[in-house]
Amino acid sequence: MDSRWTEQGAKAAIEQWSDRRGSNADLALRVYTSRLIGSEQTLVLHGGGNTSVKTTLPDDTGTSTRVLCVKGSGWDLGDIEPEGLPAVRLESLASLRARDALSDEAMVNAARTRLLDASAPNPSVETLLHAFLPHTFVDHSHADAILTLVDRPEAEAECRALFENRLAIVPYVMPGFALAKLAAEIAEANPECEGLLLLKHGLFTFGDTARQSYERHIEAVTTAEAHVGSRRRTVMLTPKEPRVDWRTLAPILRGRLGDGERPYVLTLRRDAKVAGFVDHPDLAQRSGRGPMTPDHVIRTKPWPMTLDLADEPVDAWPARVTVALDEYRRRYAEYFATHTRQKGVRRTMLDPDPRVVLVPGLGMVAAGADLAAANKAADLYEHTIGVIDDAEVMGGYEPLPESDLFDMEYWSLEQAKLGKRTPAVLAGRVVLITGAASGIGAAACRRFAAAGAHVFAVDRDDRVLSMISGNIVGAEVADLRERDAVGRCVERCVEMLGGLDGVISNAGVAPQAPIASCPPDVLEESLAINLLAHQWLAQAATQVMQAQGAGGWLVFNASKAAFNPGKGFGPYAIAKAGLVALMKQYAIEGAEHQIRSNAVNADRIRTGLLDPADVEARAQARGLSADAYFRANLLGREVTAGDVAEAMLSLALASSTTGAVVPVDGGNIAAAPR
Ligand SMILES: [Zn+2]
Repeated sequence: MDSRWTEQGAKAAIEQWSDRRGSNADLALRVYTSRLIGSEQTLVLHGGGNTSVKTTLPDDTGTSTRVLCVKGSGWDLGDIEPEGLPAVRLESLASLRARDALSDEAMVNAARTRLLDASAPNPSVETLLHAFLPHTFVDHSHADAILTLVDRPEAEAECRALFENRLAIVPYVMPGFALAKLAAEIAEANPECEGLLLLKHGLFTFGDTARQSYERHIEAVTTAEAHVGSRRRTVMLTPKEPRVDWRTLAPILRGRLGDGERPYVLTLRRDAKVAGFVDHPDLAQRSGRGPMTPDHVIRTKPWPMTLDLADEPVDAWPARVTVALDEYRRRYAEYFATHTRQKGVRRTMLDPDPRVVLVPGLGMVAAGADLAAANKAADLYEHTIGVIDDAEVMGGYEPLPESDLFDMEYWSLEQAKLGKRTPAVLAGRVVLITGAASGIGAAACRRFAAAGAHVFAVDRDDRVLSMISGNIVGAEVADLRERDAVGRCVERCVEMLGGLDGVISNAGVAPQAPIASCPPDVLEESLAINLLAHQWLAQAATQVMQAQGAGGWLVFNASKAAFNPGKGFGPYAIAKAGLVALMKQYAIEGAEHQIRSNAVNADRIRTGLLDPADVEARAQARGLSADAYFRANLLGREVTAGDVAEAMLSLALASSTTGAVVPVDGGNIAAAPR
């Protein structure tokens, strides 16, 4: 691994960050090298690792104060700013070393009460370790190559030979006060050392300057990489065709994963390395020993689940998945019970669902409460796979024993990282929305995304692709008149997120023609979009929902024309009346699978569906201005696309409502469903 330090980069960092309030040149360079570390995925991933600098900053009286600026929780080294390294009064923090013991809560309190800025994030859980070391700059990572060395039975002797006295070795102790004291003692006993190797955990380096500490880090990792590389068995991996079909498996797994209570989003990884790993004959044994560094446990659980389906017929998969999940949950509950009993502690058990599922013949599936969490688990485990592969060649992968993993998983300070916000009402749910690029469909995308759903947006207009942002996670351009294209949209959604919980079947057109003289293509076009396209979508979506076995819902955008047709609107009204019939049919036949089916009738919404000239003409015919026309309803209020989206959300959440038509028209008795 090469140092990425450049004098130019360092100068630019000082220019950019040293003049900020609460910052200086030391902190600017600390930000610079923290980012250099954070930009290497083989060093740190997803908020892992931490860095610090000891410097002098003015407090609020203007008095120069010695502080430790250390990574704050919630920040990622790759894009950290000076604010991500909160300043803690150093002298009194370091004096805590005289104590015999300090609880985790007291440690957090000690750091928070010494902050210069009360609104700063919590300093890293490894703050005291940074504070007790005398060096100006301290860098800490969970580098893959280092973990390959330290996650093995013979790690200690080999590391001593490899690093001589450059790195001192610290036996595994859980992060906290005891580790901070031990690390400082070992550093003092080895005054010539440039850093510390923490067995089964990671690497610390230190130095007088940002560059020295960073380059010592890179040098140690490079030594480890060269050593691991020289022992690595290079196998030419060519990606094989999967023997297990992901689109078939995904809904079966997703529907059962959270036991009907905790929805998950799934993501699949299957590059050649992952595929080689899951096809190893000793997969269960190799993967069952634990994560490469302890703090992964909160995102990946202590072990992945293995799911061997390759020789099973597809109709046996649901039962196989259920058995594997039951077995996993049983093992997890046993792990929890054993360690709470042995340690004599009381804890509340976390959910017992796997976050990583290894499927021979397919790849690695990662699960998360949202796509970001699933991707984090997948990234962490991909790196773990590399470490296991290498460590196995070098004498065997031996990470932390379960008892230590339990301490980490149930450590209050790690639990705090997961956040305590109550999840949004549709968190973890997947919703496909058609006609998504404008009008009601766009409003529905925004509303469902705000409710926490993962939205997969579909439209024939390619502007839909630019909607991907936040919870609108996927988009597809498709002509819904083509049955295959509709099927592909559902497949893409399943491939990307693992399944589907709800559908807003919204896309439509509003053709007009006297029915007796209606050109055939006008009627055919209306039927294709306003009726048949809904059927293609509902059919494909229902199949996924049935495979999940966890219920689901369909909401169709129908029309008052189904109940209250108007002169000249025949091609539209006939298709929409058919759509209401379609909705009822799905309500009847979906019920046994707990799939609900409902519709909204929206009227007089200012969207692209209404031609402004046409609106003007209709308003004039009633002796109204255009604005008054939009308010001509019982409530006397103009109905917006947002109102329709709100009604759609209500139907999505109305768990005892199926077969209903909900008008969103401000009140129009002539159009009331009957
Ligand atoms: Zn660490």
